[in-house]
Amino acid sequence: MEIIILTIFPEMFTSPFSDSIIKRAQDKELVKITIIDIREFAQDRHRSVDDYSYGGGPGMVLKAEPIVEAVEYIQQGDSSWIDSKVIIASAQGKIFNQKIAKKLVAHERVIFICGRYEGIDERIPQLLKAEEISIGDYVLTGGEIPVMVILDTMVRLLPGVLGKEESIKNDSFYNGLLDYPHYTRPDRYRSFEVPQVLLSGDHKKIERWRKKQSLLRTMTRRPDLLFNREFTKEEIKIIDDLKNK
Ligand code: SAM
Repeated sequence: MEIIILTIFPEMFTSPFSDSIIKRAQDKELVKITIIDIREFAQDRHRSVDDYSYGGGPGMVLKAEPIVEAVEYIQQGDSSWIDSKVIIASAQGKIFNQKIAKKLVAHERVIFICGRYEGIDERIPQLLKAEEISIGDYVLTGGEIPVMVILDTMVRLLPGVLGKEESIKNDSFYNGLLDYPHYTRPDRYRSFEVPQVLLSGDHKKIERWRKKQSLLRTMTRRPDLLFNREFTKEEIKIIDDLKNK
């Protein structure tokens, strides 16, 4: 997968992408991430990328020309980028979740645009046929952190990035449930004990316990996830047992 990020603060991306899993994914060439400074596409000698908001009011707006022309330069400069997906980080976009992440990793090439100040010129998403994505109902100072969040979520879904594919499948949200609880050594810590079943070595029993915990957690912490979800026969049986108790 190839990803290009357009930002006016390219240095913000240095540290988050040069450690741990995302770094390894790049080293293994499973993903290529390129950061482009929008200023490189500024058209005046001051390299300005923002301007006042028409109609007045506080705050600046990111101009259309540098961003649109940067995207066109990428898409027209290399035929493999012509149909690339364009995503704009926006507090007004569709709320990001695991399902959207899964859909995004199906694209081979994605361009991310990070807004700043009051936001970007409203004509940009229209001209670029871009999708706007929000990471939640709150406003950050810029799109860089949202893009890091989206990208981090996507990269760990790419085949070969995580050691064991299984760990993705058991993660919260993957199959519409929250993950089961995890414990590590010691088995007793300050009077808190690890559930006996996890020490039993009985894999069937462990699997059933985990499924039950996963369902129980989702029912108590995030019941909204269960609406419209299809349950397996085993899950229905576990829920019936839970109800009886
Ligand atoms: N005036 C805008 C509004 O109220 O919708 C907020 C602009 S915000 C200060 C500057 C930039 O940060 C946005 O253009 C966007 O790129 C990014 N941003 C802020 N909050 C975001 C969120 N929740 N999700 C994604 N991007 C966000």
